[in-house]
Amino acid sequence: MKIICIGRNYADHAAELGNAVPEEPVIFMKPKSALLQAHTPFYYPEFTNELHYECELVLRVCKNGKYIQERHAANYYNAITVGIDFTARDIQDECKKNGLPWEKAKAFDNSAAVGKFIDLTPDFNKKNINFSLNKNNETVQQGNSGQMIFSFDSIISHISNYFSLNIGDLIFTGTPAGVGECVVGDELEGFLNGQSLLKLEVK
Ligand code: MG
Repeated sequence: MKIICIGRNYADHAAELGNAVPEEPVIFMKPKSALLQAHTPFYYPEFTNELHYECELVLRVCKNGKYIQERHAANYYNAITVGIDFTARDIQDECKKNGLPWEKAKAFDNSAAVGKFIDLTPDFNKKNINFSLNKNNETVQQGNSGQMIFSFDSIISHISNYFSLNIGDLIFTGTPAGVGECVVGDELEGFLNGQSLLKLEVK
């Protein structure tokens, strides 16, 4: 099982970090050890002084494939939730400045928190999914899948040109504007179409 993440998939978030809007999806990965299992505490990593939350829609792959055409892509995922792509922003800024890979900032243990998955039934409107993140009961991020630069199907197709997709893989589809810092004691709660699917405390 692997975790594939898309960066800069919302124009307003690319702008807030001073990045250009990409012409093709920006891809990075997290290892299996990055998955924060439900009901597991999240501990503030000791190597960062600027931990950021990035609330994202997360897809779960249900079929093995590669070189998937966009028009067939919807057959390859069947569940969705909200997740947090935890980012050590200070480390990432340092890596970016020096042209180095991002893994230390993005792929550390428990950096991929995922909520409870819900089934993507045929009547589920994937182009109009509202999602949001609360920090200490205040909304800090709000997005809608319709604002994505690259759609779910386009992401799946693009990824599969480079990496085989396997059953159980998770895909983080990018974060909207409003990323910010979290500190020990913060409570984070993620919602999809108003339903609470993820809740954790930074310890
Ligand atoms: Mg992200």
